[in-house]
Amino acid sequence: MREQHLRPSPISATVDFEADGAQHGFLRLPHSRDDSAWGSVMIPITVVKNGEGPTALLTGGNHGDEYEGPIALFDLALKLDPAEVRGRVIIAPAMNYPAFLAGTRTSPIDKGNMNRSFPGKPDGTVTEKIADYFRRVLLPLADIVLDFHSGGRTLDFLPFCAAHILPDKAQEAKAFEFVRAFGAPYSMKMLEIDAVGMYDTAAEEMGKIFITTELGGGGSATALTAAIAKRGVANVLRHAGIIAGEIEAQPTEWLDMPSGDCFAFAEDGGLVEFLVDLGETVEQDAVIARILPVGRTGEKPFEIRARMKGLLAARHYPGLIKAGDCCAVLAVTV
Ligand SMILES: [Zn+2]
Repeated sequence: MREQHLRPSPISATVDFEADGAQHGFLRLPHSRDDSAWGSVMIPITVVKNGEGPTALLTGGNHGDEYEGPIALFDLALKLDPAEVRGRVIIAPAMNYPAFLAGTRTSPIDKGNMNRSFPGKPDGTVTEKIADYFRRVLLPLADIVLDFHSGGRTLDFLPFCAAHILPDKAQEAKAFEFVRAFGAPYSMKMLEIDAVGMYDTAAEEMGKIFITTELGGGGSATALTAAIAKRGVANVLRHAGIIAGEIEAQPTEWLDMPSGDCFAFAEDGGLVEFLVDLGETVEQDAVIARILPVGRTGEKPFEIRARMKGLLAARHYPGLIKAGDCCAVLAVTV
């Protein structure tokens, strides 16, 4: 095994993952820099444990500009009483903490995108060191992993909980049972543009039950999407048997991303005008959006057309778009 040759992680936890009770502390990562010679990155973490039982690992802020996860998880860390728990809940509301503090997708220290940095390296960049700690220390403790995402500053999504199609069908079925329990307005069989380096892939390759979300976007959270996140995480803990009580059942619409045809990328930059909104259905070859050239007047817009019939599940968010940006994502109802 490659891991046996890796040096130990430089990260030390100020909490004891084996101790009963609620502990609020940090993952402390030494980070020597101009304003702090022997300084550290202090990633907040909570462990709530009560006896034997399954472990849930809950993460937000994998990308620093996505807020529903941090809102739900800082709140849960404050409120979760060990007396309510059977087993263990590990809560990291802001996994890529430097990115979260900067309000950016990637880390301002090393430009690291946490969800492209797995399996990570104990002697790599700050982002790679965090990824390595999650893979080698925290993921092995977990039975169920919930990693919150949203669109961030550059995308907006229909609110959905998701899992991936996996080679191990038993593992896949369990993951989709957790997606159903989460109870977002939409539930997605998710296809990735490129799964290499993702936390998702690292967890799934270890045989863990892994679910994720996309709950809105645009670099903020709404009352609706924050409420979906808070209800969803409680439902996941109930479904895992870690907290008692009935799942707060919600209607959900199942969606699938059947092929790469669901993605539409901009081939020109400009001012984007969407002709359909999230949740609306378009026919194959219909115009989803027009990109108006802004260099001068009198130029025809570039049209983004649907390569398949589907419902608009995600869209580029800010008003201006660049060549290569993901403009739209379509999904089909199952
Ligand atoms: Zn994300």
